[in-house]
Amino acid sequence: MSIVSDYDVLVVGGGILGLASAYYIKLYNRELSVAIVEKEKDVGQGNTARSVGGYRQGIFTSRVNQVLAETSVQHLREADASGEARLGMNEVGYLIVMDRDRYAKVADIVRNFVETGKAELIEPRKLSEYLALNTNFEGDEEAEMLGIGNVVYGLFAPKCGYLDVEKVVGLYKKRCVDHGVEFILGKQVEKIVLEPVQPLGIPNEPRAWQKAKVAGVLLNGEKITSRFTVVAAGSWCPELLDPIGVDCFVKPKKRQLFVITASGELENLLNTVWADGRRLPMIFFPNGAYVVPRHREKSFWVSLTDEIGRKFSLDNEPEPSYFYENVYPPIVKYFPQFANARPSAMWAGNYSMNYLDGNPLVFKFLNCLVVTGASGSGVMKSDAVGRIAEAALFDKPYAVLHGGVKFDVSILGIEDRKVDREYFIL
Ligand SMILES: Cc1cc2nc3c(=O)[nH]c(=O)nc-3n(C[C@H](O)[C@H](O)[C@H](O)COP(=O)(O)OP(=O)(O)OC[C@H]3O[C@@H](n4cnc5c(N)ncnc54)[C@H](O)[C@@H]3O)c2cc1C
Repeated sequence: MSIVSDYDVLVVGGGILGLASAYYIKLYNRELSVAIVEKEKDVGQGNTARSVGGYRQGIFTSRVNQVLAETSVQHLREADASGEARLGMNEVGYLIVMDRDRYAKVADIVRNFVETGKAELIEPRKLSEYLALNTNFEGDEEAEMLGIGNVVYGLFAPKCGYLDVEKVVGLYKKRCVDHGVEFILGKQVEKIVLEPVQPLGIPNEPRAWQKAKVAGVLLNGEKITSRFTVVAAGSWCPELLDPIGVDCFVKPKKRQLFVITASGELENLLNTVWADGRRLPMIFFPNGAYVVPRHREKSFWVSLTDEIGRKFSLDNEPEPSYFYENVYPPIVKYFPQFANARPSAMWAGNYSMNYLDGNPLVFKFLNCLVVTGASGSGVMKSDAVGRIAEAALFDKPYAVLHGGVKFDVSILGIEDRKVDREYFIL
């Protein structure tokens, strides 16, 4: 085995979390050599590339996720406004449609969103009037069979929308390049290499009684050594960490997106203008179905976030039957304009799901940091997570998020984790 390179910090995974982490590590520690190793030909080609790019200014039930998203989105807004990068931020708003059950779970936090002016509650009658949305399913046996109940409210959050994920990747990639982060692209880490802190030169080191450290990684039989390793491999983290007995509390959950061209009645729906001259928002239904209007592309992206019954696996193959059997039936109930819709394109990716609480995980073992568990909203939380990763790697108690917000790093760790549960995993 030959050693090809040696770095102070080696980041495994060039997704948005790896990029943001590498950037802040290098920014605040300029003297260190930092590299990102990525198995794809370029960064941002994993699940980051498969994202909708939705962003929410604070519309999470976990207060921690609120802070991560609020500060990150504000950071992106300012990068966009300053001309550093044009991120294609399309502020159409999020409309979270609530039936009785969903509302009951989140009533307190919703009240708080309304009181703090982050969102407003819209009556079902107005939703029907403004958006031509079906909200009353009384006597509809098909709806009952589909588990669709009457809508009790729409929670509308205006300071949300979607952005161009590729541009966000470009922003952090450029920052990394400008600050001297190196890229090792098209190389897959086969394993994380453990070594004894004090080698004795005997076979099978480190033995169980030896103090171990992460010495680096193995790439096509070649070793890259590093003083610190950051594992930011998204939903692939368990593949790298399970073999060395480290639990990252994350599992890959497949998510699929289907593109529907907006023609005929769907074009009218796409062009809906409602309160205050707003355009059709992104709409999230209680059973996991959602509709994202892509105004510029004259299409809708639709999906359904399924849970029990969907196995954990690193599967990126979209299934056309999933659209017809699972996504289409509920969506057409809410919006009959989708009748006979057929997808013109589709893709699939994986959420790196932390099912315990739905907040990211940033924790250290030995001299290695794990940054994962974005649970379906990693793009919109990336700036904050990158800053927290930098602080956690160097054992700083606090990270300073965008706007000077002080964040206790242990909150996202394992030992002293202090997060509330996220119910808005959309
Ligand atoms: C369908 C879908 C819709 C989504 N919608 C949104 C949304 O609207 N808003 C939002 O904020 N988030 C959304 N997300 C979630 C978001 O995409 C993720 O939270 C985010 O991309 C996670 O970033 P990451 O860097 O952790 O993972 P990734 O982007 O997956 O990056 C991990 C990287 O590690 C690399 N890698 C893995 N193993 C190895 C190895 N052994 N060697 C070298 N490299 C390796 C991979 O190739 C990959 O590039 C969505 C995700 C999906 C799948």
